[in-house]
Amino acid sequence: MSEAAVRREFLAGSGLRGEALRRLQERKLRSLVRAAARGCPAYEALLRSHGVHPAEIRTLDDLPRLPVVEKSHIVENAPWGWVSAPQSTIARFIESSGSTGKPKLIAVSEQEKKRIFELSARSFYLSGVRGDGVIYPALPHGPWASAFFVQNGCERIGPTVPAEMSLPMAWHAERLKAYRPKYLITSPSFAAKLVEESGVDFPALGLKRAVVGAEGCGKRQRSRLEEAFSTTVLQGYGCTEIGVAAAECEEKSGLHYFADEYIIEVVDPKTREPVAPGEKGEMLVTCLFKDSMPMIRYAMRDMISLLGECSCGLGYPLMSHILGRSDDMMTLGAANVYPHQVMDAVTSVPELSERFQFIVSKRGLRDHAVLRAELRPGARPEGVAARVLAALKAQSSELVYVTDKARMIADPEVEFVPPGSLAPSGGGLKLRRFVDERGM
Ligand SMILES: [Zn+2]
Repeated sequence: MSEAAVRREFLAGSGLRGEALRRLQERKLRSLVRAAARGCPAYEALLRSHGVHPAEIRTLDDLPRLPVVEKSHIVENAPWGWVSAPQSTIARFIESSGSTGKPKLIAVSEQEKKRIFELSARSFYLSGVRGDGVIYPALPHGPWASAFFVQNGCERIGPTVPAEMSLPMAWHAERLKAYRPKYLITSPSFAAKLVEESGVDFPALGLKRAVVGAEGCGKRQRSRLEEAFSTTVLQGYGCTEIGVAAAECEEKSGLHYFADEYIIEVVDPKTREPVAPGEKGEMLVTCLFKDSMPMIRYAMRDMISLLGECSCGLGYPLMSHILGRSDDMMTLGAANVYPHQVMDAVTSVPELSERFQFIVSKRGLRDHAVLRAELRPGARPEGVAARVLAALKAQSSELVYVTDKARMIADPEVEFVPPGSLAPSGGGLKLRRFVDERGM
């Protein structure tokens, strides 16, 4: 196949704009809403409670009439209650942590699996990954989505090595030297671990591109990784619920999202009214090809803004990188951590008051968390740190994976302060419990 034909195959839909794009989105939206209501009684009930009949949704102007789908809809109805396709068409369930500590169990149908892999391939192709060398996706295999999406997407582009993250570092070092991959795909934390611990001479390896995802990558971190790998580092965007939705091109001016398969709205997180064009707000995603579960106006809880055209000339519209979260969640070495999980861990230990601060910063290239907790008057600190840490890990299998299995980051450090010393600052009423000093 010629390079132009390959480009057309991987970057399908890139030329769609204006009226043609709108017509495609509307056609897909109409059939999606009808099928979702027909197949999923819980979604049908949600529509009814908002006074919406599926047949009334005809154009993009009708979209704001549809209710927002929250993560709680999926968690509360798991595993089958939010599924809209016949059981026999579901190929697998994947999961990620939910804000309640209960995992979100996400169905993937046979048909959409194929589409997810195509979009995954598209995202890596867009970021410069080609089939002219070995692709090394170092990811967690298991019930999570990332390896499933990325590994299979990359296999459409070229030869891959399924490099499970939790394998010993010596395994990674030997494979990197043996295969001499041209493309590395992993999380920023694991990229840092490879740099610091593998002993591989990356500049001599001849990497042509590294793509990172699953957690944010600040400007400084990116440039340090680029220096260590001696190549360009780009970011991708995907998640368990919706697949691989966006990718960064070499301009590094934001994320190109795939508007032929996703409608992205930006709304005020409180009122859910649209924000002014270009303003920051909460992202709502409608996943137009997802026939297994209604992900229609799905509240990702990520804050973004929509941007203008990219100078690279690709037609996929541009959105900003993730500018924050609307629910205080923190990503720590690719594990999601929620304030109430830390609160539950702290309050489960009788020696500690309910006041704490969870401070995340960078130590070298990696995330480092400190849990600053207040001992109650007269309490002894012996053994308390180990118990609060065990309580925190009991809430998150992702945290156990990144600290114990893959050893991407160290355990959060526990630091005790005297009773009464964690007071709200600056005359405020609330103690800032989550402090992010990573400088995204
Ligand atoms: Zn671009």
